[in-house]
Amino acid sequence: MKVLNLINGLAVPASSGKWLDITNPSNGEVYGQLPRSESADVEQAVNAANSAYKNWSITPAIERAACMNRLADLIKDNADMLAEAESRDNGKPISLAAAVDIPRAEKNLRFYASAIQHFASESHVMEGEALNYTLRKPLGVVACISPWNLPLYLFTWKVAPALVSGNCVVAKPSEITPVTAYLLSTWVKEAGFPDGVFNIIHGLGAEVGDALVRHPKVAAVSFTGGTATGAHIASVTAPKFKKLSLELGGKNAAIIFSDCDFDEAISTTLRSSFANQGQICLCGSRILVEKSLYKRFRDALVAKAKKMKVGDPMNPATKTGAVVSKEHRDKILDYIALARKEGGSILCGGNSTTPENQPALKDGYYVEPTIIEGLAHDCTVNQEEIFGPVVTIQPFESEEEAITIANSTEYGLAATVWTNNLKRAHRVAAELETGICWVNCWLLRDLRTPFGGVKNSGVGREGGFEALQFFTEPQNVCIKL
Ligand code: NDP
Repeated sequence: MKVLNLINGLAVPASSGKWLDITNPSNGEVYGQLPRSESADVEQAVNAANSAYKNWSITPAIERAACMNRLADLIKDNADMLAEAESRDNGKPISLAAAVDIPRAEKNLRFYASAIQHFASESHVMEGEALNYTLRKPLGVVACISPWNLPLYLFTWKVAPALVSGNCVVAKPSEITPVTAYLLSTWVKEAGFPDGVFNIIHGLGAEVGDALVRHPKVAAVSFTGGTATGAHIASVTAPKFKKLSLELGGKNAAIIFSDCDFDEAISTTLRSSFANQGQICLCGSRILVEKSLYKRFRDALVAKAKKMKVGDPMNPATKTGAVVSKEHRDKILDYIALARKEGGSILCGGNSTTPENQPALKDGYYVEPTIIEGLAHDCTVNQEEIFGPVVTIQPFESEEEAITIANSTEYGLAATVWTNNLKRAHRVAAELETGICWVNCWLLRDLRTPFGGVKNSGVGREGGFEALQFFTEPQNVCIKL
């Protein structure tokens, strides 16, 4: 298949004529190509967006929302095809793509189509003297850059609030997983978006992504990806005073107290460790267990993890698929090797593997679900984001120690706390240096809530009205009475 850019309503290749390969991580085969776009393509897309901006910014919100809802309808109508495409491109189980990624992409669009119609601004009265009111104006042309782990899900999470609030968008999906954003681009016109309002360009982050964030007509950048890339983008955009939203990496702790609901804590921790092969920024990669429960919890978790076998992502029964690329698999394996050097014991997994009796998948990229014990909380493996099916497990003696360990990394995205002690739940949640804390659950998402991290996990929040605030600029108007 050939992925194309969407620029000014037209499906086009890169102006240079260059292409990049698209690989299926389940079998290592190249199955398509995407445009290797460059600054010339960014120039065209930004100019198209800039020309479309005036009309789009004054299009009534209800009409912008209608376009968004029609695009959501098209996602729904094509959900099976999108789930298959996402699974082939990313290596994730098709059951996960069908149950989570694609329905959530549809929901993102519908949520913001509705939210924009409830988005209000404030007024401030100076009694007898003046009336202030705040306008919230769109920003102009904005860049939305998304990663490969939840390709359509995170792509739509950005472009939906950007577009409904009246901005024109140039979006860049990850070059590793470009296909579902491309499929979406083929329906943008049918959904009713005027040409130039919603542009999608494909290519390498360091080339087309970099040119996009540097472009002088790009007023804001909404980025989700790795912390190092986020720091680079911040260094490029801050001197130009562009608005910036950064959703970055995590090294999330799951804190298990001995009074937890054991079975639920085990099954959810298994999911929070290995869902999407551990490639979710919210996965709990450091499991901290109160000492009195440690052995029982560890043994039960390891027993369940050992039963998780990798399988063909396209098989609806598969729960654990491939990791996204050869490079990523090798990075994960390097961290497992480092864990051994740092004194860790591998309780299960620890190796690359392939699905049993499936010779056609022998060149795919699979890693066994891996649990590592015996590492110091401040060693590299417990400090750096691995972003794969690899977790560490460690005991703690007291609530204070659990909090200290949980807060000991430079990241601060999410945490999970398991306890039936209500007071402790409130106390610990408030002490954790994270943007999100789940108590007795994981990945339970209300799209109205603020989403994002602190410390090196990001700047700003997505979700609910937070994203609409990001994509608009307040202007105070003061009228003397
Ligand atoms: P990257 O930072 O490598 O890439 C993210 C996006 O940025 C991709 O589209 C990439 O393009 C692009 N990019 C890369 N370099 C530049 C550049 N110089 N200028 C502009 N754009 C650039 O992250 P990954 O794709 O590897 O995603 C995994 C990371 O994302 C993990 O750290 C994970 O924690 C984080 N993440 C955070 C979430 C959150 O909400 N906090 C949610 C999900 C993931 P290309 O792929 O083409 O190089």
